[in-house]
Amino acid sequence: MRTRKQVYLDYSASTPVDPRVLDEMLPYFGEVYGNPSSAHRFGNRAERAVEDARMTVAGILNCQPSEVIFTSCGTESDNLAIRGAGWSARHRGEPSRLVTSPIEHSAVTNTVNQMSALMGFDTEIAPVDKFGIVDSEIFAELCKRGGALASIIYASNELGTIQDLPLLSQIAHAHDLLMHTDAVQAGGQLDLDVERLGVDMLSLSAHKFYGPKGVGLLYVKDGLELAPSQSGGGHEHGMRAGTHNTAFIVGMAKALELAYDENDGRLRHFAKMRDHLIQGILDRLSCAELSGHPNRRLPSHASFILHGIDANALMMHLDMLGVAGSSGSACKTGNPEPSDILLAVGYSEDEAKSGLRLSVGMQTSEDDISYALDVLETAVDKLGKLKREMAP
Ligand code: PLP
Repeated sequence: MRTRKQVYLDYSASTPVDPRVLDEMLPYFGEVYGNPSSAHRFGNRAERAVEDARMTVAGILNCQPSEVIFTSCGTESDNLAIRGAGWSARHRGEPSRLVTSPIEHSAVTNTVNQMSALMGFDTEIAPVDKFGIVDSEIFAELCKRGGALASIIYASNELGTIQDLPLLSQIAHAHDLLMHTDAVQAGGQLDLDVERLGVDMLSLSAHKFYGPKGVGLLYVKDGLELAPSQSGGGHEHGMRAGTHNTAFIVGMAKALELAYDENDGRLRHFAKMRDHLIQGILDRLSCAELSGHPNRRLPSHASFILHGIDANALMMHLDMLGVAGSSGSACKTGNPEPSDILLAVGYSEDEAKSGLRLSVGMQTSEDDISYALDVLETAVDKLGKLKREMAP
């Protein structure tokens, strides 16, 4: 039987675990099974692995190992940063205000919304331009009114756009707000040096950089008080209770280390594949417009508005033809609502339902891009024809 070619272009949703990462993890499922918090030698071996992983991560983030808090995913890291800092500020009697942007991942947006709905926090949303860049002057105006925390996404999961974080951090600090960034999409690609970025907290998730799903971290600047969103034992300086997931923490550190050891080569490959994809789509599909910033974008990320095309229907056609992409954020796949993020950068409802995100990775080849372009052209033609036939 002839099997159809399969092309995965959804690396922004998740990446496969690098075999070198898996090798590093395997001993911690069987051989080294002690609880890292136990005082005996079984526990000590596991604890050493967790602490070595913390050192590795700290080296890449340019922070102290004690400033790295291990969590179960990027979502949890965002929740801990926002709720933890918000609650602590409230406890100290400081202003209950949060400043964010309209293009955050739902892990940030829904946490901020919950703080507002259940706990009466004021929320300010700094607008973005058509590329998704935060308006720094309005951001400064909003920070000037005071608050506990600003949270701005480093690189957009839907648009690929990269923010000027050093500038935004400087503005937030000038008005005594803490600065958190959701760097989940940036992890493995962009500079994560917390000193250069100027942030107080930064969220990462391992499955975006060829590590396992279900493990993440939050950088928390030394001295910062965070109310734990998960209480229990005193793990992670009392900020995140729960027995350490040794194997996954080890895997995350290895994946991050490999990503930055091999950063130049990986980014060159990503950008080359991405640029072929962008050029091919703009040349071959007259309905296509690039969304997000033309230059300040993630090397792995291509996103488009396909005017007049229903992106969810397109996704199904592409899937049947062996190409995996996304109609916006992965979390929204199958959701017929227009993307809030595309609406926020000024697209109409119809346009916001025609967003396509294709993201490349280490395994993407020239051949994959050629195949995806052919399939995309066929599927868009078919959908266009169907639409014309069904028009009254
Ligand atoms: N933040 C961003 C920008 C993301 O893209 C994602 C996942 O897609 C998350 C947070 C959530 O990360 P996790 O899947 O590890 O919960």
